[in-house]
Amino acid sequence: MSQKRFFQDQLYGFLPTDIDGLDMLIELALDIRWSWNHAADKIWKHLDPALWELTHNPWIVLQTVSRNQLERQLADPAFKRRIRELIAEREQEAIATTWFQQNHTHAPLTCVAYFSMEFMLTEALTIYSGGLGNVAGDQLKSASDLGVPVVGVGLLYQQGYFRQGLDQNGDQLAMFPYNEPGQLPLTPLRLPDGEWLRLKIDLPGYPVWLRTWQVQVGRARLYLLDSNDAANLPVHRGITSELYGDGIDTRIKQEIILGIGGWKLLRALGLKPEVCHINEGHTALVILERASDYMKEAGVSFEEALAVTRAGNHFTTHTTLSSSFDRFNAATIEQFLGSYARHDLGISLNRLMGLGRETAGNENEPFNMGYLAFRGCGAVNGVSRLHGEVSRRLFEPIFPRWPTPEVPVGSVTNGVHMPAWDSELADNLWTKTCGKERWKGTLDTLEQDICCLSDEALWQFRNQSRDKLVSFIRERWERQLNISGYPTEMVEMAKRVFNPKVLTLGFARRFVPYKRTNLLLHNPQRLIHLLTNEQRPVQLVVAGKAPPRDPAGKSLIRQWIQFIQQYHLYDHVIFLSDHDIFLTEQLVRGVDVWINTPRYPMEASGTSGMKVLVNGGINLSVLDGWWAEAYSPEVGWAIGDGKQYGDDVDQDATDANALYNLLEHEVIPEFYERNAADIPERWVKKMRRSMATLTPRFSSNRTVREYTEKYYLPMAERYLQRAANRGEQGIRIANVQAELNNRWYGLSFIDVKATAIANGYLFHASVFFNGIDPEKVCVEVFANEERGEEPVRVKMTGQPHEQYHEFSVEITTKRAVSDYTVRIVPAYENISVPLENNLILWQR
Ligand SMILES: *Cc1c(COP(=O)(O)O)cnc(C)c1O
Repeated sequence: MSQKRFFQDQLYGFLPTDIDGLDMLIELALDIRWSWNHAADKIWKHLDPALWELTHNPWIVLQTVSRNQLERQLADPAFKRRIRELIAEREQEAIATTWFQQNHTHAPLTCVAYFSMEFMLTEALTIYSGGLGNVAGDQLKSASDLGVPVVGVGLLYQQGYFRQGLDQNGDQLAMFPYNEPGQLPLTPLRLPDGEWLRLKIDLPGYPVWLRTWQVQVGRARLYLLDSNDAANLPVHRGITSELYGDGIDTRIKQEIILGIGGWKLLRALGLKPEVCHINEGHTALVILERASDYMKEAGVSFEEALAVTRAGNHFTTHTTLSSSFDRFNAATIEQFLGSYARHDLGISLNRLMGLGRETAGNENEPFNMGYLAFRGCGAVNGVSRLHGEVSRRLFEPIFPRWPTPEVPVGSVTNGVHMPAWDSELADNLWTKTCGKERWKGTLDTLEQDICCLSDEALWQFRNQSRDKLVSFIRERWERQLNISGYPTEMVEMAKRVFNPKVLTLGFARRFVPYKRTNLLLHNPQRLIHLLTNEQRPVQLVVAGKAPPRDPAGKSLIRQWIQFIQQYHLYDHVIFLSDHDIFLTEQLVRGVDVWINTPRYPMEASGTSGMKVLVNGGINLSVLDGWWAEAYSPEVGWAIGDGKQYGDDVDQDATDANALYNLLEHEVIPEFYERNAADIPERWVKKMRRSMATLTPRFSSNRTVREYTEKYYLPMAERYLQRAANRGEQGIRIANVQAELNNRWYGLSFIDVKATAIANGYLFHASVFFNGIDPEKVCVEVFANEERGEEPVRVKMTGQPHEQYHEFSVEITTKRAVSDYTVRIVPAYENISVPLENNLILWQR
């Protein structure tokens, strides 16, 4: 990076520019690869140990230290040599052949744009709330490791999500510290002539200026937008203040900035992604802007542009509740997008509303962003196998008359970025066993390598990890008590709480009802009994934020804190405030067991439990989300049996008792049963299996490879095919679609017959086509999956007659003839059915 370039990149330009070597430090500080690669930590610590400890933000350290200190350090040849090495390593990494290059050299995929409302990358960039941001951040980091060409697109919130304080009553306090852009590890996006790239978009009656930023994430990039531009009206400057802030109007404005502004930003940068990954319905408006952009480029209509571009749009849904989707009423859509629909898309408000409604013409229905995402994408997935199933039920309404298993939702199970969540101890252990480059390839050999680790090595690793956590908890707890104004004796006691030898359980997540964050408190006496057993004591660390405007969530936190106070359990239970990425890191690195108690089947995936895997922690969880596919008795513990019971069963009581029983009869004894070398053999065996078999599977490395091969690559091809020759294929698709829509009502079965033949049946169907081209549909015999039999879809072949067409097919089967039905579904131009066309006609 030249001096000139660096000077331009500074927002405030107060860094001295003439110190030799400073440009290298800047390069390192502005690549948040430091959030998972800790090779340079010592450098920052050396420059300002106290500030480094408090912020873990190299960029702040660099901007804060004195000119003298910088000059002095950079004059030290050893220091400078180390920096040169780090720069060389970084450059080496940037040109090293990656998994993507090795496996997909000639793929027509040059750019995937990943749109998300939140990204959780580092505590130095607080633009996230929880799991959704975690998924986005970790996948971006893995895309960097694997060399998959992904750019993230998000919002830069001036305040982000609230920070949590707790008072002595256990009441949650919400704080909103300001995200000072000059202190965040990002730079303004500048045009070649140095002008800051700002975008203008229209909100009702007034244009809004958006500022643009870039975050370097290893090889990948994250682009951010905000509306706090001095040229804007105050009402507009505040749009991007808070993540999930109050009010439906703010929400839609944020979504317009992200979806519409985000696509404009990519285009202004000259990027033309083949694939657009829509992470949760919030970001679905990009579908409209991408289509609008294509309309101008190819001179086609909105419907034609949508038929082309949706082949390159992918939607990942994250919720298990239909109430979680953003819904906007027609007046809101008219206010904010009415003019955009008419002028930019050339469609009526009604057509736009139709894209977000279950029934296009139903004027009472609001606009559902999840539905827009479905209608504007070429593929959809849920985030675990179980969540795929749940989502098929959730989206059933927009596929009327289609069997639930055919609702087009696939699944890619989430994973976490192991290099970001492992502790230094874990990193050392894994490096010794599996090598430094272990997270960058296909992870095939990890299982074998980890299986070779001795009991001694593993148990020592575990003890050291727990030890570190206990020190952290003591420090943090002391600080928390001080801040909340507790008496000195109490603060003094914090220095001695917990015991590094005691079984340590962890539980941290958002305090929302379905997570059942208070299930452990179901029977307080039983919990106390388990915790305080003198021979086999247990300690539990808890953390979590309740949504700031949710009194019920806040009362759950209060309940924990009052429980601890009432029974004076400070030596056994600690509630740490301000759950964030940093706190999670400390917890998942040290706990022996990570507990998760969602109400089945409400946890789409859950990711926090995956973070303990690499660190040798073991999961104890309801068989929901990822754990439903990860669990076996060799790797952890399961609460319940992965079934949903009716309302007459008190599920909470049943699950709580199962949880207490597991702790009492399995977890605690296994931890405290020691051999002659003081090693809990059964425990270590579980730990080893969990590390060896689950870490590779629930790594975001696997997730990103799966997205790439299952979706990004084929979707890029499909999109390019449709877009070729100014959207020729897309235009045909739109035409057939319109034709089918117009004539489908008259399509009918005249007669359907099944005759028994040897080993099966011969099916006959005569069909009246009402002018529809038979080549554009598929007449098929269908049978549901049943009694362990696979579902059946067999295409019938046809003969034209004067008035109608005759179709027939022979089927070899032992199933009853009543299992089979004949049906007609759209089939043309390789479209995805029913996602792109949900028409269907059943024989009966
Ligand atoms: C990992 C993480 C989450 C997500 O945890 P779940 O298991 O999905 O509930 C939420 N918040 C933070 C700060 C995290 O690190």
